[in-house]
Amino acid sequence: MSDKSPGELFDLMRDSLALWQEMVDHLGNHCEYDEKGSTVVTLQSGAAGRLKSHVRDHTANGIKAEFLTDGFASLEPELSPDVAAVGWWPQDTQVQPMRACFQIAQHLKRQGVAHRLYDSVAGLAANAAGVDIRLANGDRIAAGRVVLCTGVWTAGLLAPLGIHIPVIPRKGQLCVLERGPVAIRTKIADFAYNETVENADPSDSAVQTAAIIEGTRSGTILCGSSRCFAGFDLSLDDAVLARIMADCIRLVPSLAARRIIRGYAGLRPYSIDGLPIIASVDEHGRIFTATGHEGTGHGLAAVTGRIMAGYFGGTTHSLAVAVSPARFAS
Ligand SMILES: Cc1cc2nc3c(=O)[nH]c(=O)nc-3n(C[C@H](O)[C@H](O)[C@H](O)COP(=O)(O)OP(=O)(O)OC[C@H]3O[C@@H](n4cnc5c(N)ncnc54)[C@H](O)[C@@H]3O)c2cc1C
Repeated sequence: MSDKSPGELFDLMRDSLALWQEMVDHLGNHCEYDEKGSTVVTLQSGAAGRLKSHVRDHTANGIKAEFLTDGFASLEPELSPDVAAVGWWPQDTQVQPMRACFQIAQHLKRQGVAHRLYDSVAGLAANAAGVDIRLANGDRIAAGRVVLCTGVWTAGLLAPLGIHIPVIPRKGQLCVLERGPVAIRTKIADFAYNETVENADPSDSAVQTAAIIEGTRSGTILCGSSRCFAGFDLSLDDAVLARIMADCIRLVPSLAARRIIRGYAGLRPYSIDGLPIIASVDEHGRIFTATGHEGTGHGLAAVTGRIMAGYFGGTTHSLAVAVSPARFAS
């Protein structure tokens, strides 16, 4: 929650957090789901007032959060002595997304849901009766309805049907640090991270960075992250990784002693107004998209499923209108 400002995305995330918990309660915790909290820090005393009002906005909206100007060591012992103020969100939660996917897939398999691995969809055609799916290997599948969860590739799959959705790639890079004695208990984020998320100009190819530091159960430490509009380029840029590490070391100096064991880049599906598109997109109501989640697709996965369920016989979600592509029509 800590990087969201009150609004529709905030409301979606609040619902999703509760639904993730519901899933773990129901299916068990096999996905490293840990309520470890977020420590949002600023090194600039001039930004402390803004962090304080961000905390206040959250508490006014029912989220537990605290603003602190001392005693940081009890939350995060290795924070820099230069930290001026901290916001603490005790209910923020971490999950290992690959394990979560695996857990959900196993659950569906037990329910008898058919699946295919590594088959690529080459094209779709919809009419009033259903959807014809063409796979790259030449196979065809007939479906009543189709939900495309194909991230930044969704717009390309829909374009031949004359359907245009405003979702473009926003590249991000991360460093993974070796295991070691540096203790990172919570998610540590620079307060400036919130601004990099919310201030986006797709016509600007400049690289933005802001520190995010998270430990994992395996003992490695994830240091992120960057944001950049660079098309579908997934190459790693060492200069950006160096900048990310410099940002992180400013918050936690002891990270300088840990080696980087790998870096990676990914493409966040960025929708031009920052809200996902979870809706039917064709005239027959046969093709649905679940995309445009930018940097919070794991967090929003649960509410995305709940909204989608509303279109397939469940209760219509109160935010279904907010995530419909109809909002781009005006
Ligand atoms: C550096 C970085 C850090 C991030 N940190 C966080 C975080 O802390 N929390 C968070 O919530 N989110 C985070 N995100 C964002 C998150 O990764 C995305 O929001 C999320 O992955 C989007 O999920 P998706 O399923 O829509 O798309 P994707 O994860 O991109 O999945 C799309 C899938 O569709 C498949 N596909 C595409 N085309 C086809 C086709 N034609 N046929 C068959 N399959 C196809 C792809 O192979 C892929 O597996 C981060 C992203 C980056 C880059």
